Amino acid sequence: MLPKDPSKIEAYRQKLRDKKLGTIPYNKGQKGVSEETHKKMVLARNDGRVTGIYTRTAETRIKNSIGNKDKKRTEEQRKHISEGHIGMIYTEERNLRVSIGVKNYVKTEEHCKHIRESKIGIPQTEESNRKRSESESGAKHHNWQGGKSFEPYGLEFNDELREQIRTRDNHQCQECFKFQRDLRTKKGKEYLLMIHHIDYNKRNNNSDNLITLCRICHAKTNYRRKDWEEYFKVRLWIKEVARDQSCSHRSESCSDHE
Ligand SMILES: [Zn+2]
Repeated sequence: MLPKDPSKIEAYRQKLRDKKLGTIPYNKGQKGVSEETHKKMVLARNDGRVTGIYTRTAETRIKNSIGNKDKKRTEEQRKHISEGHIGMIYTEERNLRVSIGVKNYVKTEEHCKHIRESKIGIPQTEESNRKRSESESGAKHHNWQGGKSFEPYGLEFNDELREQIRTRDNHQCQECFKFQRDLRTKKGKEYLLMIHHIDYNKRNNNSDNLITLCRICHAKTNYRRKDWEEYFKVRLWIKEVARDQSCSHRSESCSDHE
């Protein structure tokens, strides 16, 4: 048991290390584990949670990051890891877990610099670019939605309807509340506010399924779709209720409701 007195923890750890010194790990020379064992391990790691999304606490992340800092893997270790990955099957569930993990992970400026620097000097051949692009495009992309983006919009989803929704939403992004007049692309070009389908069904063009978003906020909705759907539904509903109330306080000739 880990001693409660923090000053004794290091000594306790050292004791454990000494005890292990010279002994042979029980799994030395074994290659992988059986499917059943693997399943058990995953379950144990997830504390039996049904969602299966294994999240480390912030504390653990920091501990790991400190522990791994400046650690350089030897050529042999790298080879070992790389061989371990050969033939590994990435399940859809695993991809989802990774994608959520990545989504919630905020890179620090230092981290970005680190990544930039680590890529310096690695030549990108046409071949490697092509391979990467092939491995990430279409159905192989971790966020592939089954080809939804190639589906056509309903005929009624035209400029007129889009403009109606923009007007209803006060020509503002309904997530970050930026005004139409302030919108610019990264290159500084003006662009029109986008109309997002809350339930991701392009044929459902009821006004209660449409909401105005800027490009940046719209891009965010490509991930965690279920969460965004719920979120925008509630948002529109609150807006509707607020509008109803403000109208009932005013005259009966309110023409907002048709
Ligand atoms: Zn926005």
